[in-house]
Amino acid sequence: MHELSIAQALVEQVEGAAAKEHAIRVVRVVIAVGTLSGVDPEALRSLFPLVAEETVAAGAELFIEQVATRVRCLACGLEAQTDAAFVGCTACGSRDVELSAGRELNIKSIELEVDER
Ligand SMILES: [Zn+2]
Repeated sequence: MHELSIAQALVEQVEGAAAKEHAIRVVRVVIAVGTLSGVDPEALRSLFPLVAEETVAAGAELFIEQVATRVRCLACGLEAQTDAAFVGCTACGSRDVELSAGRELNIKSIELEVDER
């Protein structure tokens, strides 16, 4: 399952960050998921706690920021939010557009609890 390997990679990254900061617990993980990334946020949300079990990330809250697809027109410079069926610029009709957001799948922030003693 696609989301399972993503959840595993996510937990690995979180574990790495926690180890670097000598954290005893991961409180919260914020990730950005683009609408075109092909990831089902709900599936990821339910798999994360299972994968995180018995790691430093166990019990961490996963917050998913969904990023809408945006395209930028290379002809007139218009940047607009769109859906996956987008084929051309809504302002000038040019098909010379580039995707500026929507494929994201990355960690935005990790909140750690560090043992101060
Ligand atoms: Zn345009």
